[in-house]
Amino acid sequence: MNVTELARILRMTPQELRYFAPQLGYDIGAKAIKVNQNVANKIIKNMPSLRRQIEEQRRLEEKKKKEREDAFRAENKKTIEVPKFITVRDFSALAGVPVNLILAELMKNGIFASLNEKIDFDTAWLAGGELGVEVIPQSEDQDESTENENKLKDILSKEGKNDLLPRPPVIVVMGHVDHGKTKLLDAIRSTNVIGGEAGGITQHIGAYQVKRKEQLITFIDTPGHEAFTAMRSRGAKIADVAILVVAADDGVKPQTVEAFKIIKAAQIPFVVAINKIDKPDANLDKVKQELSTQLNIIPEDWGGKTICSPISALKNQGIAELLDMVLLTAETEAVDIKANPNADAAGTIIESNMSKEAGPVATILVQNGTLRTGDQLTLNGINVGKVRRLNNYLEQEIKEAGPATPVQIIGLKIAPQIGDILEVGDGERVKHRKDHGSGQLSFPSNNSGNEEEDTTKKFNVIIKSDVLGSAEAIEESLAKISTSDVRAKIIQKSLGNITDGDIKKAEATGAVILGFNVKIAPNIAEIAREKNVEIKTYRIIYDLINFVKEKLEDMIEPTIIRKDLGRLKVLAIFRTEKDSQIIGGKVLDSQIENDSTIEVYREKELISTGKLKKLQAAKQNVTFVEADQECGIEFSGKPVIEVGDILNFYKEEVIKKKLK
Ligand code: GDP
Repeated sequence: MNVTELARILRMTPQELRYFAPQLGYDIGAKAIKVNQNVANKIIKNMPSLRRQIEEQRRLEEKKKKEREDAFRAENKKTIEVPKFITVRDFSALAGVPVNLILAELMKNGIFASLNEKIDFDTAWLAGGELGVEVIPQSEDQDESTENENKLKDILSKEGKNDLLPRPPVIVVMGHVDHGKTKLLDAIRSTNVIGGEAGGITQHIGAYQVKRKEQLITFIDTPGHEAFTAMRSRGAKIADVAILVVAADDGVKPQTVEAFKIIKAAQIPFVVAINKIDKPDANLDKVKQELSTQLNIIPEDWGGKTICSPISALKNQGIAELLDMVLLTAETEAVDIKANPNADAAGTIIESNMSKEAGPVATILVQNGTLRTGDQLTLNGINVGKVRRLNNYLEQEIKEAGPATPVQIIGLKIAPQIGDILEVGDGERVKHRKDHGSGQLSFPSNNSGNEEEDTTKKFNVIIKSDVLGSAEAIEESLAKISTSDVRAKIIQKSLGNITDGDIKKAEATGAVILGFNVKIAPNIAEIAREKNVEIKTYRIIYDLINFVKEKLEDMIEPTIIRKDLGRLKVLAIFRTEKDSQIIGGKVLDSQIENDSTIEVYREKELISTGKLKKLQAAKQNVTFVEADQECGIEFSGKPVIEVGDILNFYKEEVIKKKLK
């Protein structure tokens, strides 16, 4: 058999064949043209297994190479400490990365900052990650803490050391959607709830308490992603320890990264719960690998510092051990889990809504002091109402709530926002707007914009995004392009893929659904089509904002500019119809143009208006006629023109307003 023929059968080049054949034990020689049929048959038979071996070897080598590279990168990674806000210039200097690279990276994320503009920690963290710089929060003493954190610290620091007593630790559960946060919180609640009320609890407020080894623990259990919001909003520090849930079959995902960022920024200790270990495709090592390489979280059993507890929230496995680890972490790593139960209460809002029957209902986590019915509450020194009733997490009425207790407050005049800090005190009185239903605070001082608001045209949108950071960036950018005439109104914003609930909401409010880095399932797309709901998805914030901008521009009343043209003196009437006339005349000044509007003047008085249909000069159709020339025109309008009338020509230009 010819070597070329054999090579063709094996789908390789003759050179490759000459190279590989010896590895199968057949040296066919570098110059051979023919091979023995017997040898050829054996080579054909054995080549596939050789191929597999070669392939396997190549894969191994590549993997090793990648590991070497990762290790190199991890070792040589620059780590910088960044405060909550930093100018682009300072960030560049700190990171040792040229400014233009940083600006380009920000732009990729839809942020158009100038050198002296400040970016927040999260943005710096993101940009740094892309540029190979690890960004960590600046340690507490150098950090400009936000108002809220300071406020709580102030409150606690005013307490005498001896008045501070231990309080239950507060735990927050975070992680990617569907990784089992809710299930875990349910599992903890149902097995450890005080007084054995497990199972009986259907309704609950955004937090609960359990007892483990005689130690009370408070869990923040806000629905959906409100734990993220609560943790982030204005830097409010509500939790002492975080549990970062990662599904064993799914690994590190965008919201895992985001949750970790928030935990780091809040500077609280955490444990990782690797959930769903009951699943057949659970892979603990892979998750740990991803935690190490992507987040630099090194598990304890890999020589690092982070506790990683394998659990199954579904099968109730490992929950008790996880709780022990949480308690251990609270004991050894969290600072000052103490408060003064004998002071006036202060705490952070973790949940807030407007109830039809009860008015504003908010859940507060008492962080210092004891809150009692009858207490007056203030927010930033302004009175927000009196505690009429307190409900514990079992929705039972209680009379007082001490440190680390979550309680529902009924009796507020306004619905505060998540992250607001309320304090007991009289404060300044506030007028209460009756129609308040938005859950937004509004005080007389900023009520002045209301009338303007009513005339503002609104473009309703529903935002769905992969992570909270991008939802917030979108919200901010939308606020920037809004004016007093037109405004993008966010009906709802949430994380995760688009659901039929979003479509229902969009249908009811006439909103467009804007997805950022999220997917639309085919059945959802179908429902949207049926309901005539528009869904747009984007991967670049800038594009999304531009879409909204164009929609808003379409909504602005255009400006109409009148452009005066020339005048014509009527010299002859050639024909008169029911709604048109053909006349002849002479252009007096400037020039007249086709398609203009005509005003008919007699003795300087406007008697009618019409349209120029056809313009002719020397029996030719023309587009314009200049001063001193004679022409014929077809006038469309009421046939009132007489010889001697003056016709005034003008055009209107519609100018669409642009948003900045
Ligand atoms: P969340 O979005 O993080 O709150 O996730 P959920 O708690 O709603 O869980 C998402 C899905 O994963 C649900 O269908 C749960 O039943 C399932 N799930 C949660 N924990 C486990 C687990 O330990 N094992 C298995 N097999 N499924 C789980």
